[in-house]
Amino acid sequence: MPALFGKNKEEVEKPISLRDQKEELEEDVSLLEREDKSSVRKVISEVRETIREATRASLRDVKLLEEGRCPNCGRKTRQFLFTTVCEYCGWSSFITPKRGHVAIHLRDGRAIESHTVFRTVQGDVLGITDDVVRVRVPQDNIGYIEYIWTDDEIAERREQLRREQLVVCDWCGREVQWDEYVAVTYVAFGKEQQRFLFCSEKCKQAFQRQYSMRIHRNCYERPCTGCNECIKRYPDEETWEKLEEKGVRPEDKR
Ligand SMILES: [Zn+2]
Ligand SMILES: [Zn+2]
Ligand SMILES: [Zn+2]
Repeated sequence: MPALFGKNKEEVEKPISLRDQKEELEEDVSLLEREDKSSVRKVISEVRETIREATRASLRDVKLLEEGRCPNCGRKTRQFLFTTVCEYCGWSSFITPKRGHVAIHLRDGRAIESHTVFRTVQGDVLGITDDVVRVRVPQDNIGYIEYIWTDDEIAERREQLRREQLVVCDWCGREVQWDEYVAVTYVAFGKEQQRFLFCSEKCKQAFQRQYSMRIHRNCYERPCTGCNECIKRYPDEETWEKLEEKGVRPEDKR
């Protein structure tokens, strides 16, 4: 990836329109194409591979987050209303206010208000309002950043999270909260591993009686670890343990 997109975007201060760049490039490409067809093909396949890799990585992150795991180290994350953090490696994701705004408090006591903020790789903070970057504040000038939420937004988010954390029992259809008791079973009726969630052991057993497993798979009686008879869609305990075993705590990685 760095080979293609590694040109530090931060350093391009002059606004060059993509279209101008493209036109210029097209001339070069047609020249190159006349002389060296294979290298053009190579670039195109490099781009495809980069996109494929990035997609794979995002899919992995989404899967981990869905399981309440840190995309960086695989450990359990803590979910706050607008923020998810990993207490182990310091990874965090957070949503900035949509209806509220953000105030960048400078070291000299002044404050800059902005709709949203973005932290660059260099640590500087961009203040963005109406899709326009209005300020760029060097890291050293920043005291702290304040997020100002509206009460409505907080109430809505609370309700949204409550609904997201609801589990519908795959046997009786009752809705339960994730933090209440939830029974889990993994099974492969076809080629792929599936996961079913239940509000009680009773519902789980009723399900297992109704959908008995073919003898040679015997999914209910044995753990998925070590089974290679289906395509796994969920990481098993062993995988999680391996992820958690990983080395010592990285020092204050942001
Ligand atoms: Zn982590
Ligand atoms: Zn149930
Ligand atoms: Zn199985």
